[in-house]
Amino acid sequence: MMVHEDCVFCNIIKGDIPAAKVYEDEKVFAFLDIAPAQKGHTLVIPKVHYESFMDMPKEELSAVMEAVKKIAPAVVEGSGAEAFNLGVNNGEAAGQVVMHAHFHIIPRKKDDGLQMWSQGKYEPEEMEEYKNRILAVL
Ligand code: AMP
Repeated sequence: MMVHEDCVFCNIIKGDIPAAKVYEDEKVFAFLDIAPAQKGHTLVIPKVHYESFMDMPKEELSAVMEAVKKIAPAVVEGSGAEAFNLGVNNGEAAGQVVMHAHFHIIPRKKDDGLQMWSQGKYEPEEMEEYKNRILAVL
C-alpha cells in the first residue's frame, strides 16, 4: 500500500499534519524531528509507506540515500554543527516508534554531550563466537 491512513509520516507527506519540511522530491520527503536529539535533527523518509528500511526496494533506498547525501551537509551547516550521525532505529526493540521507514540525521558538535550508545566488551572467545554465529546466518 502506498499510504497508510493512520501513519503519522504518511499524513505529514499528505500535508494533513504540519511539519517543518526541508526537502522533497519525487520519492523522498524530509522534515525536522519534533523532539530533536540536537537542534536541526532531520528525518528523511520514502514517500511510499514501508514499515522498515529493510522492506524498501533498491531504487527507493538509493533515492533516500542520495537525498541524505544532499540534506546532511545542509543540516550540518544550517545548524552550525561540525558533523552528523546518520541513524536508523530498526524494529521496536531498537527504539523504532514510528513504523514508516526513516533515517535520522543528527547534527553534532565536539563535546555536545550527546551519548549515542554505550560500549561494552567481549569475554575471551566470545567475539569469535559471535562472528561465527553471524557468518552461519549469512
Ligand atoms: P523512531 O524512534 O526512530 O521511530 O523515531 C521517530 C521520530 O519521529 C522520533 O524522533 C519523534 O520525535 C519523531 N516524530 C514523531 N512524530 C513527529 C511529528 N509529527 N513531526 C516530527 N517528528 C515526529
